[in-house]
Amino acid sequence: MSGGIALTTHEVERSTALRNNQDWLAKAWDDPASRVLVVEDGQVLAEIGDGAAELVFVSPEQAPEGVRFLLGVDSGDVAYFGVGGPLSAFGVGGPLAAPGGAQDGAGLRRAGLREVGTLLSDRDAGLLTHAVALGNWHAVAGFCSRCGAPTEPETAGHSRRCTVDGSEHFPRCDPAVIMVVTDCDDRCLLARNAQWPKGRVSVLAGFVEPGESAEQAVAREVHEETGVVVSTVTYAGSQPWPMPHNLMLGFRAEAVGTDITVDAEEIEEAAWYSRADLRAALASGELIMPPSLSISRWLIETWYGSDLPARAT
Ligand SMILES: [Zn+2]
Repeated sequence: MSGGIALTTHEVERSTALRNNQDWLAKAWDDPASRVLVVEDGQVLAEIGDGAAELVFVSPEQAPEGVRFLLGVDSGDVAYFGVGGPLSAFGVGGPLAAPGGAQDGAGLRRAGLREVGTLLSDRDAGLLTHAVALGNWHAVAGFCSRCGAPTEPETAGHSRRCTVDGSEHFPRCDPAVIMVVTDCDDRCLLARNAQWPKGRVSVLAGFVEPGESAEQAVAREVHEETGVVVSTVTYAGSQPWPMPHNLMLGFRAEAVGTDITVDAEEIEEAAWYSRADLRAALASGELIMPPSLSISRWLIETWYGSDLPARAT
């Protein structure tokens, strides 16, 4: 909670107006000062030190072949691109030219958002989130969903067009709701997913269904998973979660009653916690919180009122 929701910072202007400017794009790609982030399977190269990490960029010339996308331009007029391509050519000892990045290879390795999302600067976290989201989409968008023909990237990698029927395809993003539910005593509903280890709890979450509002999805998911009926549903904040292509919509919801009946398939157990209950359970090690990268942790901490004195997994 110290600060806002992770992965929502931006220091590099997305420069949407430049995405169709072919002259500018060609010049920027020819400029050795332009920075390229190579993305493969949601991972990039990063220099990971003690409690901090930096992305490793290459020059356009050093970038591998692959789908290219404009991430934006910073306040110093440096253009940032992403390229979906193999990281293997840029391993330790490879042709790295990363100003500010270590050249000696110490701490240099592949990493994804989960590992380095909270270790990066605001600039790097924003660039990585954007690049991973686009890279994940391009990796599965090579063929038209209407006719099956190949598609080609357009708008500097922010859309694709079918080579046969001309249909335009945009990056897919699946909305999910995640909600902190409180009862009339301002206790918080925390649950353990059946897949999680004992003690690991979080707030409830689920996908928005077709034809459903986000607020309806909140009420439906809470009821399905715990039997709890909610009344007021209030938007709290959102987080891009490109793993592989979600947008997490955070809400606060007030419960009408307190009886819990878990659905048993998805949710193993659920219970109401006062702030004192939670503090004690965390201190004893009985409960483990979601990672600080997640909007779930942020939602819990905004209810709690401060950072939680908790180790996370
Ligand atoms: Zn088509």
